[in-house]
Amino acid sequence: MTPQEFRQYGYALIDWIADYHQRVESFPVLSQVQPGDIRAMLPTSPPQHGEPFDAILADVDRVILPGVTHWQSPNFFAYFPANASGPAILGELLSAGLGVQGMLWLTSPACTELETHMMDWLVEMLALPEKFKSTSTGGGVIQDSASSATLCALLAARERATHFQTNRSGGAGHLTVYITSQTHSSVEKAVMIAGIGRDNLRMIDVDESYAMRPEALAEQIACDRAAGCIPTFVCATVGTTSSNAIDPLRRIGEICQRERVWMHVDAAMSGAAALCPEFRWIHDGLEFADSYCFNPHKWMFTNFDCDAFFVADRKALIDALSILPEYLRNAATQTGAVIDYRDWQIPLGRRFRALKLWFVIRHYGVEGLQFHVREHVRIAQQFAEWVRESADFELAAPAPLNLVCFRHKGGDAVNQQLMDRLNRSGDLFLTHTRLDGKLTLRMSIGQTHTQLKHVQRAWERIQAEAQWLTKGGSGSV
Ligand code: PLP
Repeated sequence: MTPQEFRQYGYALIDWIADYHQRVESFPVLSQVQPGDIRAMLPTSPPQHGEPFDAILADVDRVILPGVTHWQSPNFFAYFPANASGPAILGELLSAGLGVQGMLWLTSPACTELETHMMDWLVEMLALPEKFKSTSTGGGVIQDSASSATLCALLAARERATHFQTNRSGGAGHLTVYITSQTHSSVEKAVMIAGIGRDNLRMIDVDESYAMRPEALAEQIACDRAAGCIPTFVCATVGTTSSNAIDPLRRIGEICQRERVWMHVDAAMSGAAALCPEFRWIHDGLEFADSYCFNPHKWMFTNFDCDAFFVADRKALIDALSILPEYLRNAATQTGAVIDYRDWQIPLGRRFRALKLWFVIRHYGVEGLQFHVREHVRIAQQFAEWVRESADFELAAPAPLNLVCFRHKGGDAVNQQLMDRLNRSGDLFLTHTRLDGKLTLRMSIGQTHTQLKHVQRAWERIQAEAQWLTKGGSGSV
């Protein structure tokens, strides 16, 4: 592709993306295709000869769009958001345009130094403990996902607990890890990958708001020590996926400090709320944490992937993950004066993700980001109020921020049919969980362009479908 052709098709693609965002509400939010539909539209074998770019772009409309679930629709209320924004998309494009692979400081000093700087900015923006700053004992790094951040934290904890014995000679020994029924499944996966073993994963009781009960944690740790285990890692969550519970960090932290157990805080979704001073209570006690992560790719308008991972003691992380083959040796690394982020993550190679974060923070400014986060919380609180006032629906858990867990009082079958019908209609997309053994709907409000009017319309659709269902209806609403 010549520079002239690149310019021509680049402009065309930017126009396509801008148009897509303008018309995103006209598509069914959840893709309506059946398994295999998309592959059936693709040729069985790759083209032998290059094709015109116009033809490729045309197939984006014909083949790809029908199979897209529109995460950037303001009517997307499923899972947790993966919200994007203009500046983030442009930052991603620039990252691709530069084509940098930033495994070492040497392989692109700007990639490393901008990332370090953005991570320090985030500490300030969220008022995180100073120890997470690069100028202190710790530091931050961008990971692809919270799952990777948790795995890195667990590996560092494992090595600290076993005095680097596991890295040297394998066999993690009898290490134990502590979570709750509400902790994200990525922690269980990390336990499997890290060789700790699911049998050593302890499920700590939760209270009525689905938050970890610190007394139960202390009891379990004592019990494990008495049995000869090595309590190694506690994962506390700020904003659980199923219930938005906020684990009591301070009391958990005091236990972890006393017991010398690594405390990781997973704030993948809800951490961004701390942009606003009035929501910083969610981080009360974070100063006890050894590591912390939140996802700007969920609720800070920075398109996937971008997880911000912080450690209090960078040496513990680097010592667990560092490996230096001859072909990567270089003078800058040797001086010890630079950061080589390859030592802070699982893969060697890494993308220039800090660009999109830099673009987002500079475009919105802290005030702009605060505005959108506040709006989402305000709208979610309004939705929760409608549920509370309704005779047919009930809240299934407290709604401290922007996730509302609710259900129709008619039971699981009604809730399942309600969700299926709403999602099939294409008007909105909702997903479910199970709380207290009951099927529960999740209204997750955090897409960049979601406004009160979208949530109001969603509530009207939910109520209308529910009425139709409970009256044994047929046909369409
Ligand atoms: N932790 C929590 C609380 C989450 O809600 C999620 C995903 O929704 C994750 C971790 C995993 O996130 P990721 O996709 O970045 O690995």
